[in-house]
Amino acid sequence: MRSPVQDYLDRLVDQIRPVDEGTTYQAVPSAASMDRNLFGLALTTVEGHCYASGDAEHAFSLQSISKAFTYGMALEDLGPDKVHEKIDVEPSGDPFNEISLQAGTGRPDNPMINAGAITTTSLIKGRGGRDRIGRIVNTFSDAAGRDLKVSEPVFKAEDKTGHRNRALAWLLRSFGILESDPEPSLQDYFRQCSILVTAKDLSMMAATLANQGVNPATGERVFSPQVVRWVLSVMSTCGMYDDAGTWAIEVGLPAKSGVGGGLLVVVPGQMGVGVFSPPLDEHGMSVRGGVAIKQMATDFGLHYGDVP
Ligand code: GLU
Repeated sequence: MRSPVQDYLDRLVDQIRPVDEGTTYQAVPSAASMDRNLFGLALTTVEGHCYASGDAEHAFSLQSISKAFTYGMALEDLGPDKVHEKIDVEPSGDPFNEISLQAGTGRPDNPMINAGAITTTSLIKGRGGRDRIGRIVNTFSDAAGRDLKVSEPVFKAEDKTGHRNRALAWLLRSFGILESDPEPSLQDYFRQCSILVTAKDLSMMAATLANQGVNPATGERVFSPQVVRWVLSVMSTCGMYDDAGTWAIEVGLPAKSGVGGGLLVVVPGQMGVGVFSPPLDEHGMSVRGGVAIKQMATDFGLHYGDVP
């Protein structure tokens, strides 16, 4: 017998695929030239059941979705107080690449904008025979439940075009927020953005957060419950940049978008959702991804203000 969840996802993909608005991410040639009709949707429950529809196994780069997971790593490594000294947790309401550093101290407003994310990466160190990016790839792989890899062509394109991120990193260095040469942290930030995933992977990574830090398929603990609480809180208030307020009203769930076309949404205690579709709106969020999540949140009453 076909599952009703599968039927629902298939219907949603058919219904939303004709939406044809937005622009693909131009800085990376392989993303810019992606078929704009690609659209995949996946859902993984905290029991580990995975449902997928459309192009849910098509690979794309993680981009800013990586910021939520490196933030979790920095919190695990250093503890919240040390991380908070360097990066605040207040929504800036600014676009992702805004140069919004706090007056006087240069502290980034939150870890979801680029300035905060580059600082987060600088806080993560190599450990246990693994260098920093090795640890990042390893942790992300644990959350996804399979081995993920950095795309070298995406990394090269990010590195070549990342002038604004480079400028931000040097500004952070001038304030002493970055404590050493910014270039290695910047390179690893570009690499974490270039990790390839699918919508299915995103749903499993989201389900790991929904399941208090334990990957529901492998049973492996990736983050402690306290760290998950911090990460989800910051995703709720800052994950959608200058669209965070509207998102809170229309969806009311912690989420993170990436310019690779991915969107990761967490329904705490229930499930993780991953969506992929390359055309982006003016906030850098997948257009079809946003439509799909808004529809799902309404259909299932997922908003935190909805009473079951
Ligand atoms: N690599 C992009 C940047 O740092 C990521 C932006 C995003 O996904 O929002 O500019």
